[in-house]
Amino acid sequence: MIDLSKPVQYIKGVGPQRAKQLERLGIYTVWDILYHFPRDYQDRSRILPAHAYGQGDLATVKGTVIASQETKPRRGLTITKLTLQEGAATFFAVWFNQPYIRKQYPPGKKLLLTGKMERNFGVPQIQVTDHELLEGDEGLHSGRIVPIYPLTENISQRFLRGLVKTTLEALGSQIREFLPDALLDRHGLPCLPEALQNIHFPADEKSYQRARKRFVLEELFLFQLGLNLQKQRFIRQPKLHRYEQQQLAEQLLQGLPFKLTGAQQRVWQEIKEDLLAPYPMNRLLQGDVGAGKTVVAALALAMAVGSGLQGALMAPTEILAEQHAASITALLEPLGIKVALLTGSNRRGRSSLLAKVASGEVQVVIGTHALIQEGVQFKNLALVVVDEQHRFGVRQRAALQDKGQRPDVLVMTATPIPRTLALTLYGDLDVSVIDELPPGRQTIKTHQLSLNQAGKAVGLIKQQVALGRQGYVVCPLVEESEKVDTQAAIDLYERLKVALPECSFGLLHGRLKPAEKEQVMQEFRQNKINVLVSTTVIEVGVDVPNATVMVVWDAQRFGLAQLHQLRGRVGRGSHQSYCILVGNPTTKEAKERLAAMCRTQDGFVLAEEDLKLRGPGEFFGTRQSGLPDFKIADLLRDSREIEKAKAEAERILQSDPELKNPENRYLFQQFAQRFPDFVKYSDVS
Ligand code: ADP
Ligand code: MG
Repeated sequence: MIDLSKPVQYIKGVGPQRAKQLERLGIYTVWDILYHFPRDYQDRSRILPAHAYGQGDLATVKGTVIASQETKPRRGLTITKLTLQEGAATFFAVWFNQPYIRKQYPPGKKLLLTGKMERNFGVPQIQVTDHELLEGDEGLHSGRIVPIYPLTENISQRFLRGLVKTTLEALGSQIREFLPDALLDRHGLPCLPEALQNIHFPADEKSYQRARKRFVLEELFLFQLGLNLQKQRFIRQPKLHRYEQQQLAEQLLQGLPFKLTGAQQRVWQEIKEDLLAPYPMNRLLQGDVGAGKTVVAALALAMAVGSGLQGALMAPTEILAEQHAASITALLEPLGIKVALLTGSNRRGRSSLLAKVASGEVQVVIGTHALIQEGVQFKNLALVVVDEQHRFGVRQRAALQDKGQRPDVLVMTATPIPRTLALTLYGDLDVSVIDELPPGRQTIKTHQLSLNQAGKAVGLIKQQVALGRQGYVVCPLVEESEKVDTQAAIDLYERLKVALPECSFGLLHGRLKPAEKEQVMQEFRQNKINVLVSTTVIEVGVDVPNATVMVVWDAQRFGLAQLHQLRGRVGRGSHQSYCILVGNPTTKEAKERLAAMCRTQDGFVLAEEDLKLRGPGEFFGTRQSGLPDFKIADLLRDSREIEKAKAEAERILQSDPELKNPENRYLFQQFAQRFPDFVKYSDVS
């Protein structure tokens, strides 16, 4: 039995240098090679005579080399041209800057070639993209359905194809199945060795489809196992704290200057029931920007404090943490509750603050991920609120939970995930949705301008500031480098200052120190700054009701979810608000994105649009969300498979709740390897 977790170097033809390059594709082990799935396929199974192809066709041809020549029409360009013969006909094959081809394929060699056919020269000529010696009948790069792999620098299709092929040939027969036979049978799926063969080198469309189905189900099944195992962790262990009285929460409710919306009431009811239940709450609170999630969180926190317990709220950025601290303090302090802010930057008074948290004197702590650092200890943390879930991973959420003993957890997100998807994806969370905005909210007038119409946007800012209102101008993250982005923001800031001397401007970007950022935000809240020019740091959560204009520069560079978030920064007060999308979209997708923004303001509709346009992986930004990056499953296309996977996971866990039975040992191993996070945080019982 071979060990598939061996490093790739174990494979013939892979030395230390190759191994390093492969790492960039996420390939470390032999197993990783086999699971490096093609991103596409080309059907090169039909080999026709060269003259049977038309101009521009993707052609696969074979022939015997009869002559070769090399020309250098200009510096840096070498053209190698082979003359090949097939039957009575001849054709040319051309390579650019690959002079070794002449030596590699001397006259007499039989070749199989794929490339673009050119018919303008009399004799058919193929511009070669893939080539190989034809020995026997079977080609690797042509003459079959050929896999196209995701690549990285210095790794070619040819190399990868060869590597996969070698690996499959050497090990294929020894690979053991880890999914239950019964599961494969129920869904008519091929076993692992067969599926691997067909996902890489399918004999035909049908065998590819079968193989794909298997890996999709495999991936989703393992994921669902993880969700379920994690959920069990919470379900099985009753909590140790109790909410004995609701008086403080009631008091907060009575004192609010507004009435909760129906949706807020319903959601608060759901949360209250969770808090009163014997097992820890694990709930996702979804609500569009401005839907009023903060009040609901404050109610829950008040209920905790009223029962002598502590609460914590974690936000993804300092600005957001500060803002939450401000609004929650305003709600809770009148009730005599002690609220404190804990971020990475406020080092002064830190140790005395930590002491107060540890002693229970501070009852509600609001902060960034500084909350989950070592040294932060609570007396009796019972309720954990996490804002903007998509910025945190499963890991951070769990780390905060570990600061208490089985605390209740409320995760808040403004990312409008379609409900069905949320239910399947966040299988470990219950879901509440605030699907109604507080009354009196205005429609935000949304318009699209090209770059040379940008003057109109400037005019609008001028007009709104004259009315006493405020605005945002958001610059895109153009480059990977924060430095370049900052410079872009500074440039725009300087230009706007010149264009609108009557306005006061502030500048916010990621390179400012936290204290500087807070200073700018403070002045903006106080309307000392009329217009805030910013990189996307203001994307989430900022609440300045007097702001009525949002101008997004180069709007085509933003995703829909992001644009929607940005627009949500305005329209928070009673004044008519505007969102201006400036930019010159070039791709069809970008045009449709901006058009969708102008068409609707409903976050859920936009989310569906986004799913259609981009697919869920990008929408969620899986890397940030704590969701695994699905290798092959496509959450839109494979929604039926999600259901099947879920049912299968529940079925197997019913008979073997922790996957400890001998027949599931190998399955558990596979699962643990793929989703280490889940195992870490589900295996504590
Ligand atoms: P979210 O966090 O969901 O984006 P917030 O909790 O920040 O939204 O609420 C947005 C604004 O709406 C706040 O100024 C808040 O005071 C106000 N608000 C919340 N609920 C109501 C309500 N039921 N009626 C009127 N205003 C509300
Ligand atoms: Mg908010």
